[in-house]
Amino acid sequence: MSDQSTTFLAKSTIKAADREHRRKINFNIARYNAVVPQGKQQFTNVHLARERAKNTKWKAIESLDRQLETFEAAATRNGTRVLYAETAAEALQQILEICKAKNCRSIVKSKSMVTEELHLNRFLEENGIESVETDLGEYIQQLDGEAPYHIVTPAMHKSKEDVAKLFAEKLGTPPHLTPQQLTLVAREKLREKYRQAEVGITGANFLIADTGSIAITENEGNGRLSCGWPQTHIAIVGIEKMLPSINDLALFWPLLATFGTGQRMTVYNSLISGPRRGDETDGPGEMYVILLDNGRTNLLQNPKARESLYCIRCGACLNACPVYKNIGGHAYGTTYSGPIGSVITPHLRDLDEYKHLSYASSLCGNCTEVCAVKINLHELLLENRAEAVAGGSYSYGERVAWKLWKTAMLRRPLMNLASGRMKGWVVNTFMKDWKRHRSPLDFPQKSFSQQWQERRR
Ligand code: SF4
Repeated sequence: MSDQSTTFLAKSTIKAADREHRRKINFNIARYNAVVPQGKQQFTNVHLARERAKNTKWKAIESLDRQLETFEAAATRNGTRVLYAETAAEALQQILEICKAKNCRSIVKSKSMVTEELHLNRFLEENGIESVETDLGEYIQQLDGEAPYHIVTPAMHKSKEDVAKLFAEKLGTPPHLTPQQLTLVAREKLREKYRQAEVGITGANFLIADTGSIAITENEGNGRLSCGWPQTHIAIVGIEKMLPSINDLALFWPLLATFGTGQRMTVYNSLISGPRRGDETDGPGEMYVILLDNGRTNLLQNPKARESLYCIRCGACLNACPVYKNIGGHAYGTTYSGPIGSVITPHLRDLDEYKHLSYASSLCGNCTEVCAVKINLHELLLENRAEAVAGGSYSYGERVAWKLWKTAMLRRPLMNLASGRMKGWVVNTFMKDWKRHRSPLDFPQKSFSQQWQERRR
């Protein structure tokens, strides 16, 4: 068992028994579930919309090499500097070099899972640069020293009382502020940070190949301020975020809004095509886009798992997953949690270390059912399991157990040799992990064959 697997089991066992945690998660997911059907009403045929989105992403990913070249050429024409980073270390170094060149001491950052993947804040801090999260949920998490809990709603596991207590502890505010008051406190603190920051860092929801633009979707206006206020804007984006044409946003913006938060459209949708131009008064003087691989080409070269690169990070599969709803986002110990995290993490990192995530599923298929771009998530989880086994990533004991099971299952007379009591003893004695959270299995005394014969007499 890998270290990651042991930690995952320990954390998820604790969280699954934490009723208060479950209450908060169920409360927040129930609010999401209540509004998503309303958002879906904007589509004449939501299944067709998802199918079209899947086809567009298929096109983008199948021709990713050309799309990247098209993006780079168009972005360069717009005055953006495009850099490629093969690994997290390379991306961090590129960001540091830009910051050093700008004598940067302070950064404002909008919500970005890619920067979580790089552990960017920690890296910048180690290099003497303050990096402040400006999305309210991320700001709360940063204050608490925690990673985001959910890819769309970073502080989903905290109640308003938890946030008021946190602000009181960390910022010295009165202990029972309302959500509105808390938001105003954060706003005031962050405005000051915008004024100080030399560099703004953002991710992007989409890369637009034909115009060389990045598209950022958010509800607070902080993303727009993070890229527009400081003199230098760095966008760091996974290469899979590509859309071939600006026209594709007509489908992807409402789709992301509805499946992400149940809105018809997210409040702020910014399309950024380069730094400030000669005749413009606002915006950064310089803009960089760092195109990050960091394991994504492992997925690209895998004909089956490649489909997971279509993901638009709406978070719908997390909200639908019975495992996620019980153990929460932190138990996974990964940047991307829930079904999509379990599919991609073994490929982005290490199959052997993270193969256990493929088993953190009931295979109910609910994730596939709700996916905005119809990724066959539950089938990809099975693929990961198959790949792990084919790669020899299983124990000798497991191999023997399955061989015995297969031999017995394929020979009914052999199975009938054992009494119900004997079968019960074997299963309840050797399947300890199964038994730990369940009552013992009780086999009928008569085998299926005996019962069948008696019925036909
Ligand atoms: S896999 Fe599908 S449902 Fe899950 S986050 Fe990605 S697009 Fe959304």
